[in-house]
Amino acid sequence: MLTLSTLKGCRSFTDNKEKLLPKINILDQHVADLIAAGEVVERPASVVKELTENSIDAGAGIVTVEIAGGGMAFIRVTDNGCGMAPEDAKNAFLRHATSKLSNAKGLEAISTLGFRGEALAAIAAVSRIELISREQGAREGIRITLDAGKVTSTSPTGCPEGTTIIVRDLFFNTPARRKFVKSDRAESASAASAVLRSALSRPDVSVRFIKDNKTEYHTPGDSRIDSCVYSLFGRDFTSGLLRVESDFEDIAVVGFISAPEAARGNRSYQFFFINGRPIKSVILQAALEQAYRNILPAGRFPSCVLYITTKHSEVDVNVHPAKTEVRFASEKQIFDSIYYTALGALENPPVIENKDSTVHDRKQYEQSGSFKTMQVDEYRRSYDPGRSYDPGRVKPAESVRAAAVRPDVPEHIPVFSPPPVIVPSYRVVGEVMDMYIIIEYNDCIRFIDKHAAHERIHFNALKSGIYTPMSESLITPVICRMGTEGASALLENTQLLDRLGFSAESFGDDSVAVRHIPADIDIGDTESVLSDISEELKTGGAAQQERYDRIFRMIACKAAIKAGRSSDISELEVLAGRVMSGEISHCPHGRPVVFEISKTVLDKGFKRI
Ligand code: ADP
Ligand code: MG
Repeated sequence: MLTLSTLKGCRSFTDNKEKLLPKINILDQHVADLIAAGEVVERPASVVKELTENSIDAGAGIVTVEIAGGGMAFIRVTDNGCGMAPEDAKNAFLRHATSKLSNAKGLEAISTLGFRGEALAAIAAVSRIELISREQGAREGIRITLDAGKVTSTSPTGCPEGTTIIVRDLFFNTPARRKFVKSDRAESASAASAVLRSALSRPDVSVRFIKDNKTEYHTPGDSRIDSCVYSLFGRDFTSGLLRVESDFEDIAVVGFISAPEAARGNRSYQFFFINGRPIKSVILQAALEQAYRNILPAGRFPSCVLYITTKHSEVDVNVHPAKTEVRFASEKQIFDSIYYTALGALENPPVIENKDSTVHDRKQYEQSGSFKTMQVDEYRRSYDPGRSYDPGRVKPAESVRAAAVRPDVPEHIPVFSPPPVIVPSYRVVGEVMDMYIIIEYNDCIRFIDKHAAHERIHFNALKSGIYTPMSESLITPVICRMGTEGASALLENTQLLDRLGFSAESFGDDSVAVRHIPADIDIGDTESVLSDISEELKTGGAAQQERYDRIFRMIACKAAIKAGRSSDISELEVLAGRVMSGEISHCPHGRPVVFEISKTVLDKGFKRI
């Protein structure tokens, strides 16, 4: 029998108890600090993040973060916050020293905001620190220096009100940790993005980030989200944003999401904040992306800057030592809030007057009522029975992961039945280039991409399932060779084929005989369209809804009026009517359907104004 003692080279537990199990020692304070430091302080970016958060917590209106040598050599964070009294300044570096929990009620803040009094002790343990601080209203300040967590000097000093903390020689006493630090350039970039998140989290605080003596960014601190975003990301990014605002079941959401045409190739511009703190959450990411599901092609991602305010008891930040990941008490509620808020803005995008108009154009921004998005509960009501997130179907823990891989938690997506709209008066002028419909509307000329518009109409119709496209009977069936697998994939999905306007029967092992095709599809395309559908059906992995969507997009594209083929006026009128009613705005691939030029732009071009 195999026992521990018979294993070659292994001594029996009973024989050598003392040797194998050393005595338990209470860790000395310094070692404990080093362990804690490993969790909180991974790299320079963690230091700047903690220090910037402390400055913001201290009520500062201005925070300056400077780094040199990737932050390993030098970090300085200066603020004009409340400052520290000399006694508090000395205590601030002790573990579990925090001024932010003074009574039992404040305990809630441990889990919600992560005040654990750990950061300064952890940073001090692995660096040389200089702290200069003067309490608001105090006559003088204090200067304290520490080496590896031990105080080396304390003295009164003259200094401005507020706090400056300088961190030098990070990890000088922990060579093992130094090995994990990357190049100066990589560490600087990571620090810059950590401070950026803090800056974005509080548009009411002016944050300046200086790298190697050069200012990288500087937010105005004027409490405006748009000017904060603009100062960090510039004009192009800002002009591609749609404003959102909603308030639903104790969850308020405000901020910006990207217009579909401003989508990017990655998720690096998705920013979420909960109760003033930057956080990462796959639930929020999935909710946002789900709203774009039928307007963005695979591999394109929306951007966002979203501020969520909810009850502290709804959020637990103690999932991660650096407090960047959170858990929600009610995942469904938070998912729905983001999903419907984004959907509201995407379905009712503000009309863009001309390409010079951006959301940072304050006058226009303030005057425009169209930025107000539909409220979440209005959406839920109008899109019933669509359920965006059903925790009953998927267990919460799994749903988070499932949502992260493919943001496709729900099986049924909302059927769009937009509320009745008043169609504004307009005039269809005609068509140019066999491609664009021209419309005169108010003081603007609108162009409609007729193919894109028609494609969207087809897509919505197929997706809703309440409409079956007109089918054409073929006198002689078309025989399509699909291969055995392809043929059986099609024959197992006759209901779907029916919904698309096809009917097909088995014809030998590897072929199907097609008797009906959608009227808008060319007979010559039958085999290629069906083989695309069978390819899609054969693909494993993706959820059924996702595969169907791809098939609907493909059929919609094939069936839509082609650019380059002239249309008669009645066709143009129908398309124009659907677009002008606000029913559609983007094609299923995310391209806009309408483009507008204002009279002002024309007047400017002709130098009338
Ligand atoms: P926590 O932020 O969780 O309270 P820290 O270790 O980050 O723990 O900070 C410890 C304490 O030091 C804070 O609670 C606060 O009282 C004080 N402190 C830290 N940074 C500042 C600052 N920039 N201005 C004023 N007080 C500060
Ligand atoms: Mg702190």
